[in-house]
Amino acid sequence: MSILSLRNVQKRYHNHIAVNNVSFDIPEGSIFGLLGPNGAGKTSLIRIITGITGADSGEIIFDGQNINNIRAAQIGYLPEERGLYKKMKVGEQLVYLARLKGLSKRDAKKTIDHWFEKFEITEWWNKKVQELSKGMQQKIQFVATVMHDPKLLILDEPFSGLDPINTNLIKSEIYELNQKGATIVFSTHRMEQVEEICEHIVLINQGQKILEGKVDDVKNEHKENKFKIGFKGGMPSGLTKDSFTVISDDHDELIIQIKPGHKPNELLGELMQKGVNIQSYNEILPSLNEIFINQVKGVSYE
Ligand code: ATP
Repeated sequence: MSILSLRNVQKRYHNHIAVNNVSFDIPEGSIFGLLGPNGAGKTSLIRIITGITGADSGEIIFDGQNINNIRAAQIGYLPEERGLYKKMKVGEQLVYLARLKGLSKRDAKKTIDHWFEKFEITEWWNKKVQELSKGMQQKIQFVATVMHDPKLLILDEPFSGLDPINTNLIKSEIYELNQKGATIVFSTHRMEQVEEICEHIVLINQGQKILEGKVDDVKNEHKENKFKIGFKGGMPSGLTKDSFTVISDDHDELIIQIKPGHKPNELLGELMQKGVNIQSYNEILPSLNEIFINQVKGVSYE
């Protein structure tokens, strides 16, 4: 079941196509990575989903309905560029933003109090935004994004400017919101964060979708037959290297790539025959970083 389905979404700025016939589904309850190099079209897509800008053509279905009627209350968007009024007091500003999302003043105060107590920042209520550091402002922006309890959270570089402690704090809040049913769309260039957090991804390049799926499936589809062999007591010399090439050779660990048309068992059989004391024999799946670079490299930008 998808919470959000994009169908043939297209967006052109002057004579440049920023989003080119993009379709994908975001499974309900998932943590979904929206990935792509600089200028790929991610922000354009997010701005279309959140209604900040309109698509030229295509359709977006949210929870079974056309998205146009339901946006403000059901979506929380944390933009990469902070969107807080610098001179306004933090508490007052959050109440104002919550009211725009449809909360009553009383409910707004209640939920903001809850988040401030949770984050131990109650003394920030009467500070002006400009008096807060970059990371502190990011925490306020996070509260502004989640305080109306949206079904879909779109987080663009949510950890930007946060120290490791606050990164962990926000990360665990994201997991908790996801556990409670929110679907999370996470956009970042930090592939190790995507590996850690996301279950599904879509990769956009030059306005087009080039890859989509569960992280594990994507990795399996892009594996390169590389294996890591751990052993004790040395490798025998004179291995027939018909079936593999050596990528690296440490004193107790060998990384190899099986040649096309060969099976990993051929090498395993030979090693066992030669009495090598094998400790481990594991396939190495590519990292998302490697997949990202391989998929995107060689593409020139206008
Ligand atoms: P980044 O990772 O750098 O934030 P992105 O994937 O979010 O990149 P977009 O901001 O969506 O990329 O931009 C996609 C393309 O559309 C770029 O070529 C950009 O120059 C162009 N573009 C975006 N907004 C506008 C605009 N308002 N007017 C003209 N061109 C635009």
